[in-house]
Amino acid sequence: DAEVVLIGRSNVGKSTLMREITGHTFDTGQKPGVTRQPNHYDWTSEDFVISDLPGFGFMAGVPDDVQDDIKTHIVQYLEENADKILCGVIVLDGKAAVDIIDRHSGPDEIPHTVEMFGFCRELGIPVVLAVNKMDKVDDRDERLNEICDRFGLFPPWKQWEGETIAPITAKTGNIDALNQAVRHHLHEAKRDDL
Ligand code: GDP
Repeated sequence: DAEVVLIGRSNVGKSTLMREITGHTFDTGQKPGVTRQPNHYDWTSEDFVISDLPGFGFMAGVPDDVQDDIKTHIVQYLEENADKILCGVIVLDGKAAVDIIDRHSGPDEIPHTVEMFGFCRELGIPVVLAVNKMDKVDDRDERLNEICDRFGLFPPWKQWEGETIAPITAKTGNIDALNQAVRHHLHEAKRDDL
């Protein structure tokens, strides 16, 4: 089965998004340090499975080595399943992402999200950046341009719309841009199969 994977730090809104996509309720209170196995669910409107991978990056009270384990699991999962993964959805908190990325950028440090983005691309997995919590963002265009810049995508963000950048507000069910981007990659994948 074709598969879409959801990746993102804790608290970016993955559970909220999963609930919107699938209609199921998810335990948002993920226990710190518990490495979840990927969960598989059907995406209601389309014929593929969606998996959420455990949160990575900062989780309060989680030791560094556990966080590294989580990242290793995600990387292994992507490597082993790259053939059937139709696209990777990296969920960001639109309000916080740029600050967090800048705080974790340095001579020998790449922020987890940026690393995952590059890693998916290396594996040939198309990536959509689902920029969530847009209801909290005032300077929409500026913020989305900054996010493009941090991920090495040439601004303006508008040229990535419908494909790589999907501004959403999961909380209110405003996820059209993400549906559109995922559908785009689904159709591309079908075309490749012909
Ligand atoms: P997860 O840890 O990635 O699964 O994140 P959750 O789905 O548990 O969401 C974390 C917090 O962000 C919760 O308080 C949500 O209500 C809130 N949240 C999720 N989506 C949005 C959104 O689109 N806008 C706003 N303002 N808050 C959101």
